[in-house]
Amino acid sequence: MAETILVLNAGSSSIKFELFEVAPGDRLASRFSGQIEGIGVRPHLYARKAGGETLVDRAVALEEAADVERAMGVVEAWLDEILDGSPAAVGHRVVHGGPVHAAPIAIDARVLTTLESFVPLAPLHQPNNLAPIRSLLRRRPDLLQVACFDTGFHRGHGELADRFALPEALWEEGIRRYGFHGLSYEYIAARLPELAPEIAQGRVIVAHLGSGCSMCALRAGRSVESTMGFTALDGLPMGTRPGQLDAGVVLHLLTAKGMDAAALERFLYHECGLKGLSGISNDVRVLLASPDPRAKRALDFFTYKIAQMTGWLAAALEGLDGFVFTAGIGENAPTIREAVAHRLAWLGMTLDPHANAVHGPLISAAGSRVRVYVIPTDEELMIARHTLAILRRGRPGGAARSTAAG
Ligand code: ADP
Repeated sequence: MAETILVLNAGSSSIKFELFEVAPGDRLASRFSGQIEGIGVRPHLYARKAGGETLVDRAVALEEAADVERAMGVVEAWLDEILDGSPAAVGHRVVHGGPVHAAPIAIDARVLTTLESFVPLAPLHQPNNLAPIRSLLRRRPDLLQVACFDTGFHRGHGELADRFALPEALWEEGIRRYGFHGLSYEYIAARLPELAPEIAQGRVIVAHLGSGCSMCALRAGRSVESTMGFTALDGLPMGTRPGQLDAGVVLHLLTAKGMDAAALERFLYHECGLKGLSGISNDVRVLLASPDPRAKRALDFFTYKIAQMTGWLAAALEGLDGFVFTAGIGENAPTIREAVAHRLAWLGMTLDPHANAVHGPLISAAGSRVRVYVIPTDEELMIARHTLAILRRGRPGGAARSTAAG
């Protein structure tokens, strides 16, 4: 059997997976991807080949996938059925690497304990990310597992970018601006020299606009600033999260409105953003198609904030050479890209309407001072690359494998 790398991305209600084959020259080729979704509610397993053919599409009994750990068992059993051997390694998306972890790392029991200590920094995401790691570590201690962090790519930020104006003790406790979507930005930074060599060494803003939205300032391919901060709540408005919000509003909701912490958390993560603002939907496709003025207002607010944050990031970069749109909205919504560019005409941004309509990759007009691109992101491929690199590094002395075996 060809050597393969399995990539896992476990959330609260779904586990996404993608299997990559290691082709000659260590080129990674996707073989299939899928997910088990509706964990704990109405679990469903779905997977399709890279070519599009469906491999599995079936409901899963609730008791088999009542939580992330058991759902992982369902995924493993299905993989055992269709694979003629074990993957050589498993790469995981882990939201938080804390202040210390920038680079991906082979996981053993000690590393897992460190990653568990970051649960208070990302209570909604980190436990779900770690659940499959723990179960695989127990069941397959010999299997190399690698953690790749959403925060990692931003760890080279200067201290000014990472700080809040809060007392020193809180900084020491890890109350810092970490930034997220790092695997997406790292992938885009790696694509720039191939697709946009004239800006790759310059000052570039990348807008990751998906169900979560953030923007990253790159200088010569390295992150120097992010719109997301301590959590993935900050910065741009998103499908259901408000983005930047006066802390006084949170105090008001707690005191005058009598919300408790759990209600507030639910509200801020699930009821705000485009969904809350429009009262219609969190999905940009639905909002673009709606004649309701509330949909237009929500999208106007969205593009206004993207343009505003561009100014904020351009100040951190002291100028701007390039701008990249990526993720679900960024890759697929020419109308949103046009609205953003229109608001940024003062910065020297003009789009070529035809190139924008066909999604580029270069979508700026010939005379545009800022070069604008659409580049599809691939966080799973980035994880697979990191995992393969650690697998290869470990091979001569078997170091990474014995580390994984803990
Ligand atoms: P995630 O991977 O974070 O779940 P995606 O990057 O796939 O999210 O982005 C999902 C979002 O992209 C959807 O909520 C939808 O608003 C938006 N989207 C997807 N396709 C289109 C499209 N053709 N036009 C506008 N928006 C789109």
